[in-house]
Amino acid sequence: MSETRAIKDYIRTIPDFPIPGVQFRDVTTLFSDPTGFRQAVDALANPFTEDRLTTVAAMDARGFILGGAVAYKLGLPFVPIRKKGKLPGGTIAEAYSLEYGEAIVEIHHDAFDPGARVLLVDDLLATGGTAVAGVKLIERLGGHIVAAAFVVNLPDLGGSARLRELGVEVLTLCD
Ligand code: 5GP
Repeated sequence: MSETRAIKDYIRTIPDFPIPGVQFRDVTTLFSDPTGFRQAVDALANPFTEDRLTTVAAMDARGFILGGAVAYKLGLPFVPIRKKGKLPGGTIAEAYSLEYGEAIVEIHHDAFDPGARVLLVDDLLATGGTAVAGVKLIERLGGHIVAAAFVVNLPDLGGSARLRELGVEVLTLCD
């Protein structure tokens, strides 16, 4: 019988990446373990039946690994929110600040129809800047955010509080 481990136990912390002082939570060790990865994808998808959602969107790049699997599991369309300059069709953009640095993310303007009920997926929630940019893009296209789901939450950095203040339901699997 295989041993059940907590999701947190599959994730390692790498000190001083990408810059000195940052404790980077490395989810590649979760992705490389089939039991852990399946456990995480199931936990992100299971609270959401197909009738609550029409669409799964995810943030570039680790969000795609999880979001694609969640979309497959729920049998729903997958929409990528990509870093600037990567999407080939017409896009709309949002700029935001990261825990370290700045970024712009984009979505295809025809990614889904207005009224879509969207689950937004990413690997980790820190300040919430990335997720809020994703929420804004989805809402600008007329989508409704049903929830935002993450493997890791760093609650001290305020992202979960920030999303909840915007009225977004937040699902996280570990701190
Ligand atoms: P936020 O915008 O909430 O401050 O940062 C979250 C975004 O940055 C996510 O897209 C996430 O992938 C990335 N990120 C920031 N810090 C970490 C970290 O320690 N580990 C991982 N895996 N991603 C991080």
